[in-house]
Amino acid sequence: MTTTDVQPWYRRTHRWGQTNLTEIDPERYDDAWWRKHWRDTAVQGVIVNAGGIVAYYPSRFPLHHRAVALGDHDLYGHIVDSARDEGLTVVARMDSNRVDEDFYQAHPEWVCRDSSGAPITVADKWVTCINSPYYSEYLPGVMNEIIERSHPDGFADNSWAALPRSSICYCRHCAEHFNRTTGFDLPRDHDWQAKNYRAWIRWNYQRRTDLWELNNRVTTTAGGAKCLWFGMLSGDVLNNSQRFIDLRQILSRSELIMLDHQHRNTVDGFEQNTEAGKRLHELLGWDKLIPESTPQYQLGVPAFRVAAMPEPEVRLWATAGFAGGIQPWWHHIGSRHDDRRQYRTAAPLFGWHRDNIDILINRTPVADVGVVWSQLNHDLAGQDKAAERTLDPYRGMVRALDRAGIGYLPLHVDDLGTAAGRYRVIVLPNVGILSEDQAAAIRAFSDQGGSVIISGETASLSPDGDRRTDSELEQLFGVRFTGKAYGAQSLADFDIETHARHSYLRLEPELRAGIDGPTDTSAPEPSGSRHPIFDGLDATDLIAFGGYLPVAAIADDLQDSRADVLATFVPDFPIYPPETSWLREPKTDVPAILARQLPSGARLVWLLADLDRCLARDDQPDHATIIANAVRWAIGNEPSCQVDGDGLVVASLYQQPGRRILHLTNRVITSRTPGRQSQLVPVGPIDVRVRIGRSTGPRVTSRVTGNELVATAADGYLAFRIDRVKDHEVMVIDGVEMT
Ligand SMILES: [Zn+2]
Repeated sequence: MTTTDVQPWYRRTHRWGQTNLTEIDPERYDDAWWRKHWRDTAVQGVIVNAGGIVAYYPSRFPLHHRAVALGDHDLYGHIVDSARDEGLTVVARMDSNRVDEDFYQAHPEWVCRDSSGAPITVADKWVTCINSPYYSEYLPGVMNEIIERSHPDGFADNSWAALPRSSICYCRHCAEHFNRTTGFDLPRDHDWQAKNYRAWIRWNYQRRTDLWELNNRVTTTAGGAKCLWFGMLSGDVLNNSQRFIDLRQILSRSELIMLDHQHRNTVDGFEQNTEAGKRLHELLGWDKLIPESTPQYQLGVPAFRVAAMPEPEVRLWATAGFAGGIQPWWHHIGSRHDDRRQYRTAAPLFGWHRDNIDILINRTPVADVGVVWSQLNHDLAGQDKAAERTLDPYRGMVRALDRAGIGYLPLHVDDLGTAAGRYRVIVLPNVGILSEDQAAAIRAFSDQGGSVIISGETASLSPDGDRRTDSELEQLFGVRFTGKAYGAQSLADFDIETHARHSYLRLEPELRAGIDGPTDTSAPEPSGSRHPIFDGLDATDLIAFGGYLPVAAIADDLQDSRADVLATFVPDFPIYPPETSWLREPKTDVPAILARQLPSGARLVWLLADLDRCLARDDQPDHATIIANAVRWAIGNEPSCQVDGDGLVVASLYQQPGRRILHLTNRVITSRTPGRQSQLVPVGPIDVRVRIGRSTGPRVTSRVTGNELVATAADGYLAFRIDRVKDHEVMVIDGVEMT
């Protein structure tokens, strides 16, 4: 018996297929055709619609709505039999958060209620309440029935997390359970300042985690220890917050993620799929799998359920996922299609995945930078404007790193204590909420020589979201917030009738030498000697800003920890008419960027000005330059990997014993509309340097072209050039020792 034979299904099923049945499919499903498609696309598992909103088998529950064309047939069971015949893993798919009118009439108390007591409906369905017996009694009965009939390997549920944060359910079950658990009455509105609203948020998170555990108890009791239940999860962190899914809590209880992150958004590139994979693996574990539903139809903006997704869009999304440790899972809506182009994309992509599985799993990431994220911060500091307040700083930071070819990993704020020895730099993009312990962990990291880059109002809030003064980080930089601020975090809070966004930053010459930073006397005049974070900006003393700046003052009593002020704020002045457009106040002493070097060797940078948020929103190249330079300065001279590709590829580095694996994914977008990319624009040449330490005649091979590359080893690095990256490239460097 091989190792593979003894691994449970959730560790050995690397490629998935899903024909998401519609209600008329019982009359038109072509079993032979789909069996051949499973083989052609090398899938090892299928996700089959079983029950929930619609049943695809003759359920004994009279109110379990059968697909309109089902009759007494058992399409679900028929497909399960075929899949077993093909040797495939079977996951029973449910979608169970709403019911039909007859169900509502029979069980009106299982349905969510608005503040007036009226039932909550969506389209022609009634939304069921997570605190009602629908979830604790009825659905477990359905799962037991499915297990008895067909013994699936496991379960997946699509909309398992019930009513989102935007709605408050006032049903009897919610009112009683909330009061019993928290002592509060249900909140009447979404007031983040109210104690009972914050308690309601926490309670809702706990209810989803409880449900995750309950469903797993049900399925493992009836189906055995490996019959695990998985609620599908989004890769979008704000979506998880809006659905009360505590990723850290849930993933610490999970063996797998069924990832429902099907397309890029309108702002970020395909690289967001790489980020999602890495962020989720960091919580789940890198030894586990994350299959991701990838639509072969145009799920974009807008969506077309039965039109084929252009192949380049699928390939760029899927290969960016591979770079983040995600496995492929094709997804069609319905079992027959007039647009048959959607069947062509998966076979070559999945075949490549099968042929290269040895380097795509069982590997660990290598990165110099940990970028900190916090779901609590998105909730309590971001509130209803989290996209701008807390997420934009994060996405701007990682965008700058991706463009600069600097590898990073998303670091959950609760894992700050594990950063020492793992990362050279940790980055906190406006992580306002930090506990005392987390702030102390940052201090300890820097005391051990680890560099720290923070932005905005990091550490300015307590874990309850209350404003804090004199934080650990203020002390570390020798400043104190004054309570004043220029600009705004949210575009809606700028006065659009004025020129409020027409502000600038002045790049200061570096005046001090010694431990506080290097001095480069060869820098051109008249700027004087500049800090390395301004490399490439020698010809300007002023850069565009247009963002938010909390005003911090240098604290006289914190002389010992005084940081250098590298840039100062220049207030806004008129844009129009042009005759009025001159600087009213060319020079202030309001700090915008601070830097400091500690005796431990740690390098600290505080981007008080929200360059990360501005980059996400305004795409100002100078902001990307400064962020990337700050990280490069903080890393020092020996990055794990350096990729020079004009920012057109994203690099992701992994290792296995004796081997490095480098993914380069093409980030060129020719259609800004998700779902519409119809071209692959090759980029290159790309020069790569990978730090390898000692090596024994290293060999560099492309797993995309099959070519072996000429590489030069020097100074502990291996350098090579890749001529062309079409959608992705995966280089394997054999004969090197682990970092
Ligand atoms: Zn309720």
